Amino acid sequence: MAEESTEGGQTKPGFQNPVAGFGVTFKAMFKKRLTEQYPEQPKTTAPRFHGRHQLNRHPDGLEKCIGCELCAWACPADAIYVEGADNTDEERYSPGERYGRVYQINYARCILCGLCIEACPTRALTMTNEFELADSSRENLIYTKEQLLAGLEEGMVESPHSIFPGTDEQDYYRGLVTEAAPGTVRQVAVSKGEKPEPEGAEA
Ligand code: SF4
Ligand code: SF4
Repeated sequence: MAEESTEGGQTKPGFQNPVAGFGVTFKAMFKKRLTEQYPEQPKTTAPRFHGRHQLNRHPDGLEKCIGCELCAWACPADAIYVEGADNTDEERYSPGERYGRVYQINYARCILCGLCIEACPTRALTMTNEFELADSSRENLIYTKEQLLAGLEEGMVESPHSIFPGTDEQDYYRGLVTEAAPGTVRQVAVSKGEKPEPEGAEA
């Protein structure tokens, strides 16, 4: 006679346990096979998939990040490092008082949860669908502001540059600035070690 076992408070004949285990295997044998041909055919992600971050710009090219560090405080993995700094009329990166001078995300720590983008008050920080972030070097997994900053689109001028004449910070958030003012030129990034061109030098 087969031995009996007790499971979940119920007594079953001993021979049923291995059969129940193989049941999962049998069911899987008749399922449609799903083979991903990655990386030759990358999978299309869901539209709101949480991938690599992006630091966004205003329509004239100025940066949306104000260096407030709320994203860093919201991060449960301590993956974000921000250093804010003051804008000046000679070197302006964002329309308001402050900008993110240093911005880093450590993808060796990030769990792509999205809490940081929820915390961002200016929608400066969003997430893209890019998921190919693996690397064999820890150093390469720390993305800098330059890597995270969105590229320039039509009508934008690279920061730093002056605010659109006749507007203030609020106008940017009201959507009143739609492109860089005619004649806007990039300023010298003195805080990043750039030196003004000597007088008489050709542009
Ligand atoms: S997605 Fe989550 S873990 Fe990654 S930086 Fe943002 S808050 Fe931190
Ligand atoms: S990305 Fe957003 S939350 Fe983070 S420092 Fe910049 S403005 Fe603040």
